[in-house]
Amino acid sequence: MELNIALLKGDGIGPEIVDSAAAVLEKTAGIYGHKISFAPYPIGGCAIDERGTPLPQETVEGCLASDSVLLGAVGGPKWDGLAGDVRPEKALLGIRSALGLYTNLRPAKLYPALRSASPLKDGIVGEGFDLLIVRELTGGIYFGDRGYREGKYGTEAFDTEAYSVTEIERIGRVAFEAAMKRSKRLCSIDKANVLESSRLWRKTMHGLSEQYPDVQYSDMFVDNAAMQLVRDPGQFDVIVTSNMFGDILSDEASQITGSIGMLASASLGASKRGLYEPIHGSAPDIAGQNKANPIAAILSGAMMLRYSFNLIREAEAIEEAVNKVLDAGFRTADLMGTEKGVPLTCTEMTEKILEAI
Ligand code: NAD
Repeated sequence: MELNIALLKGDGIGPEIVDSAAAVLEKTAGIYGHKISFAPYPIGGCAIDERGTPLPQETVEGCLASDSVLLGAVGGPKWDGLAGDVRPEKALLGIRSALGLYTNLRPAKLYPALRSASPLKDGIVGEGFDLLIVRELTGGIYFGDRGYREGKYGTEAFDTEAYSVTEIERIGRVAFEAAMKRSKRLCSIDKANVLESSRLWRKTMHGLSEQYPDVQYSDMFVDNAAMQLVRDPGQFDVIVTSNMFGDILSDEASQITGSIGMLASASLGASKRGLYEPIHGSAPDIAGQNKANPIAAILSGAMMLRYSFNLIREAEAIEEAVNKVLDAGFRTADLMGTEKGVPLTCTEMTEKILEAI
């Protein structure tokens, strides 16, 4: 297979970790007989410096011409004083919308070797957990009608949560399909005891569940889900939810893994092309020091192989290499916790993973 990948390295640690992920993808592609090529494009603060805009047209066109996109991170103190519409982060919304991405996949996995990094007690996390949050990305209250009006207590501001059957079915299918590829359990999270939009969400998900009899389907109210995630995260496999609930719950889920440098994400649309990126930011405090953990970016590359190219064996080869390296006790500085020893640099960790593939 031929894979043409657009690389958006961005700012801070972005270039270091994207280089690591590209090296891992290149080696994996070579082993399995695929031809892979990379085309870098500027995004974020470095694009502001070079081109005067965080998302140059050339970057959008390059991504649209690629088979899939790997992003590092954008932003940093140098650009913090700029107005909202020219800030580096503006490029993230711009590229997601240009690529028509309406689904966000956020795995939250606690590796047994990193159990001590979780803020949850041993008795709660057990042997670790491995869940996937499927979040609707382009609808709901973040995109609904908003404004000011005169209300009962004077001037008030309002935002509107609205979902159509089409939008719910579209995200629901992604979640059921993802559940089919995992342990066939799906929990849909809503607030159907209060919100009309959630009642339509629940009814539509129930309708879809009849088309996926092999998936063990359940519903949960969002307030209960927020509690259950810290009480017993191992009960979840795939979770599907709306834009705002997903925003909040995916951050909660990432925190209980305890290691932000390990977590990958994917944003997908109707085509196979996706945007794959670590969930962390540009970490300006450690940028340029070769201290960054490249694993979130490397696992984002593995997600790309799985979701954009359906190269499951290849994705697993990368994930197994990461497991092997962690089980052998290798750690970057952010993963050290209370462990003694010398942490690996970003390039040393990348080398270990390359050797393990
Ligand atoms: P951050 O995720 O960059 O950093 C938070 C903390 O985690 C820092 O101490 C950092 O050193 C550490 N960290 C993050 N990733 C790491 C890694 N791979 N290895 C080791 N340590 C790691 O969040 P922040 O400090 O709030 O934001 C910094 C900048 O990144 C801001 O400009 C912010 O707007 C931007 N940001 C960008 C994205 C994105 O590009 N998707 C996401 C979040 C934040």
